[in-house]
Formats: sequence, C-alpha cells, structure tokens
Amino acid sequence: MPTKRKFPNSRMSSIAMSGGIREILTLAGRMEQEGRSIIHMEIGRPDFDSPECAKKVAVHAIESGNVHYTDMAGAYDLRCAVADKYRRENGMDVDADKNVVITNGAMEALTASMLTLLEPGEEIIVPAPYFSAYADEIAISDAKLVAVPTKMENDFRVRAEDIAAAVTPKTAAILINSPNNPSGTVLTRKDLEDIAALAIEKDLWVISDECYEKFVYDGEHISIASLPGMAERTVTCSAASKTWSMTGWRIGWIVAPESMRQYANKCHQNLTTCANSFAQAGVVEAFAHADGDVKAMIDEYRRRRDMVVRWLSDIKGFEAYTPSGAFYAFPRIAKLGMDGFKFCSWLLERSGVSTVPGEVFGMPGHIRIAYCREYDYIEEGLSRIKKAVESL
Ligand code: PLP
Repeated sequence: MPTKRKFPNSRMSSIAMSGGIREILTLAGRMEQEGRSIIHMEIGRPDFDSPECAKKVAVHAIESGNVHYTDMAGAYDLRCAVADKYRRENGMDVDADKNVVITNGAMEALTASMLTLLEPGEEIIVPAPYFSAYADEIAISDAKLVAVPTKMENDFRVRAEDIAAAVTPKTAAILINSPNNPSGTVLTRKDLEDIAALAIEKDLWVISDECYEKFVYDGEHISIASLPGMAERTVTCSAASKTWSMTGWRIGWIVAPESMRQYANKCHQNLTTCANSFAQAGVVEAFAHADGDVKAMIDEYRRRRDMVVRWLSDIKGFEAYTPSGAFYAFPRIAKLGMDGFKFCSWLLERSGVSTVPGEVFGMPGHIRIAYCREYDYIEEGLSRIKKAVESL
C-alpha cells in the first residue's frame, strides 16, 4: 500500500518539473524517432571530443589501480592544478589545501555553496536571464531567488544600482555568471568593481559561476574574487566540463575563503564523498597539456558565433545581439507576438529546430540558440528558422 504521507517535502515541491531544457530535448528526440529531421540547438553540450591526453591518462589511471576514494576535497595534484591556475591566470591567492574543493561538476559546486551559505528563507539576487538550474539549486537550499532583469539594450549587463534596489534585510548573496548562459554577456571590470563595492557595503556573499571563462571573444574575463576585498566573500565555482569539453567526466571545483571552504567540503562529503578518481587524473592532465585543445575550440566557437549573428540579424521579426562569450545566442522574438514556449514548440513542429524559450531562463520574449554543434549543422538550423519565421 502506498504511503499516505505528504511528499515530496516543501523544498522539492517548489522545483519546476516541466518546461526545462531536458523536456524540450525529450520532445525533439521523440520526433526524431518518428522519422523527423531535427536540428538540436537546445542543449549546451560542446560537440568536441575531450582532449586525447586526458583520455589516455584516465584509462591509465584505471589500469594502474587509481580506482578508490580520493581525498574528500579532491586529489591533491588536482587541487594544486586548480590553485596554480587561479594564481597564474586569475590573479587570485589560492592555496590547494585551504581554498579548493573538487566537486562533481559545477552543479555540485553551486549546490554545495548554496547549501553552505544560505539560511532557509534568505534571498539570493540573480541577474536575469540566468542558467535555469539556479532556480532549483536555490529551492533545494530553501532560499529565495530574487531576479534582477537586465536589458538587451545594455548588453544584458547587470547594473549594480539595480542589484542595490533589490537588496532587503533578507539578502545573503549575489550570484553572477560571466560569461553568461544564456545571453553570452561578459561583465566588464567596471561592472564587477561596482558589484564588488555593493557586496562589501551591504556585507553580502558573491557566488561567481565562471564555467565559460575560456570562451570570451570580445573583452576579457575577470574573476570578481581577484578584486580588492573580495577574496574573503566570494565563492568561485567552475568546471572542466565546458573548458575541455568534458561534460560527462563530472569534475568541477569550488574556490573559497578558508573559513567557508571547510563547510563546503563537509557538505560535498555528505553529498558525494569525493569526485571520481580517474576522471580527476584526466583533468590534471588537461590542466597541464590541453591548452591547444582549448585554443582550437575558442577559434571555432568564434567563427560560429559570427555566423550565427549574421543569420539572426537577417531574420525579420528577430532582434539580434552579439554575444561576447559562451556559446549561446539569445535573440529577442517579442515582435512576433508569441511567448517563448509557444514560439519554440511552433518552431520545432514547423521546421524541426529545437531551441529553448527565454522563460526557462527567467526572461520571456527571447529564445536561446546553442551553437555548440558543427558549423554546417548550425547554419542549416538557422536557415530553417529564417524560412519558418518569414513565412509567418
Ligand atoms: N553553470 C552554467 C552557467 C552552466 O551553463 C552549466 C551547464 O550547462 C553548469 C553550471 C553546470 O556545469 P557542469 O556540467 O560542470 O555541472
């Protein structure tokens, strides 16, 4: 007999169960099984293989018995590689023992950070549009997402004054993501300095999701933790997933002040114990020897970005914008008079192109187009979109 107890609990019942990226992918997959030709532009999964050197080292790690639990906070050599990277590239003073926790992807890094920092009922300010999983991660932490909308006219760059207007006595943190998924926006040094000043003035934490830091085509990536006074109040979350096209390896990390890092590590231990041993070995190798792979990906993404913007600027009814980073475009479709859900299901049905409604990212009136597939494949998708939209 099924239990009569009420479930799920309040945390899980506030999680969105439909309308996300996975559901769109499932629908597109079903149409494909029925024989339809589908162009997938919904999911942000890079199409490149993982670096050969990392694969070889991971296989060797399995064969040579590196198959057991690692240190809970992550294998020492990987923590050293992470610390070294932030010291060299990001101007941060990071120590492998004091500041780093290796997690199961950026997802766990973000969830563990929120579980560690947010009290039930506290608020976390998130500029919109935002990566859809944040809403669920915040709900699991029993906290409240306070969205601060940005404007395409301001390149989707959040203004510190808009964040300031959203601060209440319950605000505990600001979550930023630059380069941004889904807009591709890269925050400038001035933007980050203004956010940092506000965080210090209001005594707030900053969680900085820097998963796409390598994929910047215009401007530069700056870690907010490197700004004066910010290392003590910033948790930087990132991963191997996008940088080296290693999404299935599930390796990410938290870089945090020592006082916070010990609790994040405790949270991580109880969620997953540690990250996969041989995947960690592969990522150590990627840090050491896969810069060439990253460079090749950046060049190709830039080429695709330029092509995508050319097409989108040429579709009547679309308003395009040039993303400076990541591998997404986020055109406005509001002039077509349909909401994002309606438009994306119509487009999928009509032309077999699978995209994601802006509503999923907290910003209606837009759609997200992922350009992490082959050049010609993306071009075919855009040509189908143009034909479908201009037939309206
Ligand atoms: N943060 C952002 C902005 C993302 O786009 C993604 C994945 O798409 C993640 C975090 C999750 O990354 P991971 O696969 O390393 O868990």
